Amino acid sequence: MTALLESYSAGRWYAATDEGRPVLDAVTGEEVARISSTGLDLGAMVAHARTVGAPALAELTFHERAGLLKAVAKHLTGLKDELHELSFRTGATRRDSAVDIDGGIGTVFSIASKATRELPNDTIHLDGGLERLGREGTFLGQHVWTSRPGVAVQVNAFNFPVWGFLEKLAPAFLAGAPTIVKPAAQTAYLTELVVRRTIESGLLPDGTLQLLAGSPAGLLDELGVQDRVAFTGSAHTAGLLRNHPSVLHGGVELTVEADSLNCSILGPDVTEEDPELDLFVRSVVAEMTVKAGQKCTAIRRVLVPRALAATVTEAIAARLATVVVGDPRSDAVRMGALVSLEQREEVRKAIQSLRASSEIVFGDPDHVDVVDADAERGAFLSPALLRAADGAVEPHDVEPFGPVSTVVAYDGVADAVRLAARGRGSLVASVVTRDPAVARSVVLGLAPWHGRVLVLDRDDAAEAAAAGGHGSPLPALVHGGPGRAGGGEELGGIRGVLHHMQRTAVQASPEMLTAITGRWTTGSRRAVGDVHPFRKSLADLRVGDAIASAPRRVTLADIDHFAEFTGDTFYAHTDPEAAAANPLFGGIVAHGYLVVSLAAGLFVDPDPGPVLANFGVDSLRFLTPVKADDTIAVTLTVKQITPRTNADYGEVRWDAVVANAGGEPVATYDVLTLVAKEWPPTPA
Ligand code: NDP
Repeated sequence: MTALLESYSAGRWYAATDEGRPVLDAVTGEEVARISSTGLDLGAMVAHARTVGAPALAELTFHERAGLLKAVAKHLTGLKDELHELSFRTGATRRDSAVDIDGGIGTVFSIASKATRELPNDTIHLDGGLERLGREGTFLGQHVWTSRPGVAVQVNAFNFPVWGFLEKLAPAFLAGAPTIVKPAAQTAYLTELVVRRTIESGLLPDGTLQLLAGSPAGLLDELGVQDRVAFTGSAHTAGLLRNHPSVLHGGVELTVEADSLNCSILGPDVTEEDPELDLFVRSVVAEMTVKAGQKCTAIRRVLVPRALAATVTEAIAARLATVVVGDPRSDAVRMGALVSLEQREEVRKAIQSLRASSEIVFGDPDHVDVVDADAERGAFLSPALLRAADGAVEPHDVEPFGPVSTVVAYDGVADAVRLAARGRGSLVASVVTRDPAVARSVVLGLAPWHGRVLVLDRDDAAEAAAAGGHGSPLPALVHGGPGRAGGGEELGGIRGVLHHMQRTAVQASPEMLTAITGRWTTGSRRAVGDVHPFRKSLADLRVGDAIASAPRRVTLADIDHFAEFTGDTFYAHTDPEAAAANPLFGGIVAHGYLVVSLAAGLFVDPDPGPVLANFGVDSLRFLTPVKADDTIAVTLTVKQITPRTNADYGEVRWDAVVANAGGEPVATYDVLTLVAKEWPPTPA
């Protein structure tokens, strides 16, 4: 008998008290492991996440969490060979495993690095700008995102045991939520290995990652208002979870990613001579055969203009005929096995249902020639292409979770969009077209029904393929879809992190908002001292440190000089008559960029010091025109300080207000600088 897969709970590995049930190799039918969670104390697991994991994460800033995730991703990168070797047993070829393993690790890197760039080095994240709630500016509103003290439970499908786990772990961890992962039984041994290696690395704080190998029965009963469940799998199980009392009445948030009948549309403009035709055919065949079609994003419906339906069907069939099926370890093999014999039966049943209204034009569901493998013991299945009769219902309703697609002919763009929508909401659709007008109408038609839309043509084909094509969720983009696809959203860059957090509107005085958010708020106190803030290193600089400059008169000679020097001789700065006729200015005005340049001259401290560079401005607005002989002065205030991890400098955001002699703001903006952590720097 093989070993029992262990769960990782409350800081230790746990083996069930019974023998468990066997999990079989998809290729050979041999037992890989046994699985059971009998006797596992799920209450203790959830309590450990809440009382040990969540507080540990609360101690870390977004940047520190991102740093740990990057370290985990690096650690797993070094273990890829071991993971790939085990992954063969799930039926996956090396190319399939690259999507799962390398794709999963890449997703962690990508989200962690976005977090470092787009989130502050803090535990609170601001949402949008300040809202003025009173006339005087003493009462303001600010939306903030904060971590919730709950648990992120992930219940995953069998098809991506590594990516499925990591793409959910990274955003939850960044958001400050400890994870309990419950992998699907069929491939749980691979998730277990990744979790085991991650725990062994010692990189993650205790309680932030736990594994439930075996049945999750009773887990949802332990969850409450602050907890979330992210489910990927069948619509049937999703229905059970949606009706669980903890979800219905207990406030547990449930995100679902379930069955999705994705389509790809060949644009009506594409001819047999266009390279787009070949792109379309290749994309369909890739989606049918990668992971043996066991992908939630695979193309199930191939929508083709009626006039080209026969040509396209033949081209897809011809390409499918070159696909070698067999042992995924073999170099000759393009498509491995389905995850289990049971799954193969499910797909055969789905093909049978489809045949009610579609004919098979390629592949025999009951027979396939295999290379280096036993066709009976392994869950091998031929790719199958069907062609739907007009008005067929089943292709829009039945999800064959395997290497199966159906060609459906359409008449015109509106018909293609109508057919796509019959999937009742999908994760992704693609349209292959060269015509911008077709692209716009199809995308506008598809968008309400899809989480992601790929527009493919000869210009983006190479890079789109390198990014994984139609079927690859990308860490920076939303993954999820409406309606039948579950209605959930995972990933999407920082959006994926924010899904786990709570947004709260805080109403307070400027002073209080500065204290709460860690970001200086207009209207709160400024500290104007003897030392120019440009003389202070990051260690000495404080939010609110400010400088109020001396005034400067802006002369007509300044404006003329700037116009001539820069070549910006726009009439409002150079032609008195034309400028006078301008309804907004009524005469010559200074260039906005002149005002900003003069302001820099007013606020800088010129000597070498801790301020290393100016890397931009944000939110620049010119509010009041500056006329010749107006006087301006600038107030510069430290708004936010963000030390960079692994660098000897950090970012300082300064609030800049340029005002005229009457105190009216003429320009407002944020100046962005890099400032040394220490000055003078300690010699290396
Ligand atoms: P399931 O819904 O059967 O299983 C998905 C996950 O849910 C597994 O981890 C499973 O655990 C768990 N689970 C099952 N019952 C419960 C329950 N009552 N409470 C909590 N968790 C439960 O889907 P499969 O993975 O078997 O896939 C079946 C079908 O799902 C596919 O044929 C396909 O149609 C669809 N699917 C859709 C995907 C998508 O992203 N759109 C992805 C993968 C599958 P256990 O394995 O231990 O039973």
